[in-house]
Amino acid sequence: MKTSGRDLARKVRSIGESREFEARSGELPTWCPGCGYFGIHHGMNDCIRRLGIPLHKVVTVSGIGCAGRYPFFTKTYGLHTVHGRAVPVATGVKLGNPELTVYAVGGDGDGLAIGGGHLPHVCRRDVDINYVLFDNSIYGLTKGQPSPSSPMGMKSKASPRGTSDKPINATLLALSYGASFVARLFAGDKKMIADVLLEGTKHKGFALFHIYSPCVTFDKSYKTWENLKKWVHPLPETHDPTNLRQAFDQVLEDDWSVGVIYRRPQRE
Ligand code: SF4
Repeated sequence: MKTSGRDLARKVRSIGESREFEARSGELPTWCPGCGYFGIHHGMNDCIRRLGIPLHKVVTVSGIGCAGRYPFFTKTYGLHTVHGRAVPVATGVKLGNPELTVYAVGGDGDGLAIGGGHLPHVCRRDVDINYVLFDNSIYGLTKGQPSPSSPMGMKSKASPRGTSDKPINATLLALSYGASFVARLFAGDKKMIADVLLEGTKHKGFALFHIYSPCVTFDKSYKTWENLKKWVHPLPETHDPTNLRQAFDQVLEDDWSVGVIYRRPQRE
């Protein structure tokens, strides 16, 4: 059924008026229907609402890509910067005003290719910002090229014989470089996203939220909703997120477990 202009206006108004969506702006996201980013947006919005801090004390910084549009869809302060630079700009915002709660957001192409050089350093410096990495293993905005997290052999218009590169595991990379809070999540579980984002945002130090998400338009074979729902599962109950060795073992043995992988005990 087609949505009329009046229905759309009503929907935008109800989003603006609803407390549940109070951190959302009146702009309807321009992502493709069914994109996993809607779930991440819902989880982030819920986290920011539950944090209970005024929206003018929250800043969302993005780079380029489908996820780069994120700041338009939230009522927090926002910066839509250049390709791969969400993390350094977010670092600058935090250093300029440490009272702000700062989120860097972006996709796997933005954050692991052109911006990949920033991740090791923000981890080792343990800057108190939150990095929400939307990982769908594809460049969506430029119509479906393989990204640094695409699996070997993934076929696309840009790689008709399949990719020959090994993928980057962002969770493992963050652990290796000393990030003090590392979580892996799934766009299909909005509640877990909100709960874990809340915990990680309260954590003093750098927090990576590595979120698996489908690109429904350009990826019909790998991170589809169908596959992710089959593959993703919670961390084992015995997992101790304060044990770094266990965190490494878990990530090396299992690509699809989600939850808080590692949390360094906080200094008093
Ligand atoms: S192209 Fe893919 S990642 Fe981009 S909005 Fe559409 S479904 Fe989402």
